[in-house]
Amino acid sequence: MDVRLASRSGFCHGVENAIEQAARVLEEGRPGAICSLGEVIHNRQVVDRLAEGGLKVLDRPEDVSAGDTVLIRSHGAPPEVIETLRRRGAHIVDATCVLVTRAQTLVRELDSEGYQVVVIGDENHPEVRGVVGYGHNVICVDSPEQLDRLPSGGKLGIISQTTHSPERFGEMVGKIAARGYAELKVVNTLCLETRRRQEAAVELARQVDVMFVLGGRQSANTRQLARLCENVGVRTYHLESWEDFRPAMAAGAAVAGVTAGASTPEWIIQEFVDRLREA
Ligand code: SF4
Repeated sequence: MDVRLASRSGFCHGVENAIEQAARVLEEGRPGAICSLGEVIHNRQVVDRLAEGGLKVLDRPEDVSAGDTVLIRSHGAPPEVIETLRRRGAHIVDATCVLVTRAQTLVRELDSEGYQVVVIGDENHPEVRGVVGYGHNVICVDSPEQLDRLPSGGKLGIISQTTHSPERFGEMVGKIAARGYAELKVVNTLCLETRRRQEAAVELARQVDVMFVLGGRQSANTRQLARLCENVGVRTYHLESWEDFRPAMAAGAAVAGVTAGASTPEWIIQEFVDRLREA
């Protein structure tokens, strides 16, 4: 089969940095446990490898003991979590992506300038849960149905979850503007790497009979890639790796496209492409 790989796919610099930092602290062999708060990335295979190297995954900062080393993943963490870790005497290794740090700083600034801060994003996503903590009463909306969470007047400061598509961000900002606020300050916090991957995926989806989008089920940017490919009208499958592939998925297709989310390692992508070419 003719298999084409998107011109941009796979690890972004934020994820690469988090994995490198995790590998480095494991190699250093520090005293105390070495942990991450939540899985370092949304990829089972990478998480399993890091666990084999000794990285523990904890869900709550209260589970950390004095002297433990705690990695803050690329999604970042709310300030109260960092504070709890400090109080408990943990060594913090901060792998928050610089773009997420920027979004956190913006929330703090907009909040102190008197804006009602609005984050357009999934309130259950770890990045958004972290970012929201940097202001008071930050409101999170992710669909037109949630707009009734907003106040009826005043001035709003709006940012986005970094991995949203520009179309989705723009659509939500348009709907908010239509509600007639006196002032809107919109700051673009979209991740350029994510956007380039989305553009490359859409371009490829237009040329193929079937698209395979590789990445963890929980990975927001992978799900977004799959959604964009589906919107092109091409048959699209979101798979974690070659293990999930079934021959029926490629039935009748002469050309297949492959792309991958920002937390999908190169070896998973390459194995998939090689095996699909032979299928
Ligand atoms: S997808 Fe973008 S914002 Fe998220 S970790 Fe990667 S580079 Fe940072």
